[in-house]
Amino acid sequence: MKSSSSVLSAVLLLGTWTLSACGGGPPQPRVAPPPHPTLAIIRTNLWDGTGRAPVSNAVTLVRAGRIVCAGAAGECRIPPGARILDGQGRWLIPGLIDSHVHLLFLTHGSAGQELSLDLRNLLAQGVTTVRDMGTSPTGLLTRVNALTASPRVYAMQLVAGRRFFFNGFQGIRTSRGTVYRQPPAMAMQSLGWTPLLYTPNDNADSVVEVARKAGAMGLKLYAQLDTESVRKLTEAAHRAGMPVWGHAWVQPASALEQVLATQDGLVHAAGLAGELFSHEERDTLVNDGKLQVATAEVATVGSAHDPRILAALDSMAARGTFFEPTLDATRQSVAYYNAKRRHIPSDQENYVRAASGFGIEITREAVKRGVRISAGSDHVAYGPAIERASLFGELRLLVDSVALTPQAALLAATRDAAQALGGEPAKRLGTIEPGRYADLVMLSKNPLEDIANLESVEWVMKGGRIWRPGQLRSGIAMR
Ligand SMILES: [Zn+2]
Repeated sequence: MKSSSSVLSAVLLLGTWTLSACGGGPPQPRVAPPPHPTLAIIRTNLWDGTGRAPVSNAVTLVRAGRIVCAGAAGECRIPPGARILDGQGRWLIPGLIDSHVHLLFLTHGSAGQELSLDLRNLLAQGVTTVRDMGTSPTGLLTRVNALTASPRVYAMQLVAGRRFFFNGFQGIRTSRGTVYRQPPAMAMQSLGWTPLLYTPNDNADSVVEVARKAGAMGLKLYAQLDTESVRKLTEAAHRAGMPVWGHAWVQPASALEQVLATQDGLVHAAGLAGELFSHEERDTLVNDGKLQVATAEVATVGSAHDPRILAALDSMAARGTFFEPTLDATRQSVAYYNAKRRHIPSDQENYVRAASGFGIEITREAVKRGVRISAGSDHVAYGPAIERASLFGELRLLVDSVALTPQAALLAATRDAAQALGGEPAKRLGTIEPGRYADLVMLSKNPLEDIANLESVEWVMKGGRIWRPGQLRSGIAMR
């Protein structure tokens, strides 16, 4: 029926054109197609990320890259002339947000082709937005702006204290086996990253201004910042309308001190081990570089329930501070060491193994206490794809190990992740509601039944444009 009526309208159109072209009648007014035709995605199961129950037989209208309407068939009227996309029996969910990635590693080759491949692969997994938690905002955003087959990319500006720039405690091994010591900031800069130095005597508003001009959406406090520095930087960023996130702890400032300084979010569950040290111990550990050894000693499944840690988590819950556990990155590191089967584990291996169980237990406590979770994976854009932490891996851990429901895990990668990003993204991303960007994922299987069904991506839409995983992964979509 559909095809015969299409043929009929084609004949009618042709007839009209022929008549006017021959001058056999009055010129027909040409009806210009609407500048932004509506796309109606019909008959899907809609999980819109707002927290409401899924809607069956739903209609979702998209126009000019935005959601116009999303709801039950009777709620959204399909305008005449709309293009219809039938998604019978499939699941429509908001585009996923990975709120913790690192995309630019100049020395590892992720500046050009590898970056483009990584971004296409992320999009193919249904990830339509990422937040780079610190590389080089300008360098990264310039490269990403030249690409179309990419998630939306937001970038944070790294900030660290004096010792990060001038203390030479990080051992670097050259290809000839020589070990030399250099400040961590120098190692970071050699990757093409651009950390900013802040000392308590500096003007925090100037640091924020440099970050803003670099294209950053907020600050990521990285290391060697005392409580006063955290407070001044956070206040300055908030004056400029920018969020502040930081490592838990940020050495020597503790996680609790960061929360009390009104920081917006903390990353890395294993970092809560910092609460188990006194202020003096925290300061000394940073100075002598024994941080990993000391953390491996104190971070146990039992110590995750220490009252000092619970106090920090309760404070986060009370203030709405976001928490990004980054569990998949630790799991990947453990898998790496398992494969190596070293007879004598390195300090790094001991740290990673301790951090794994401790981090999961901390995350369980955080969820129990009502801390808002944002799903960030600590994904990096180089190395074998299978060894990179992924949002999918993070969500599986949140369900399988932390015991979140698939719905709660999905909220941490949609609605709540958008809130975690803050600013404009919080109003435009994360849910399928009128006015939001048309960032959508169509799945053939129900992700609320099994989070692993996130692998059943049929297509991904970013800003109204549809991409199919095969198209993105095959190289057909080159840019
Ligand atoms: Zn990171």
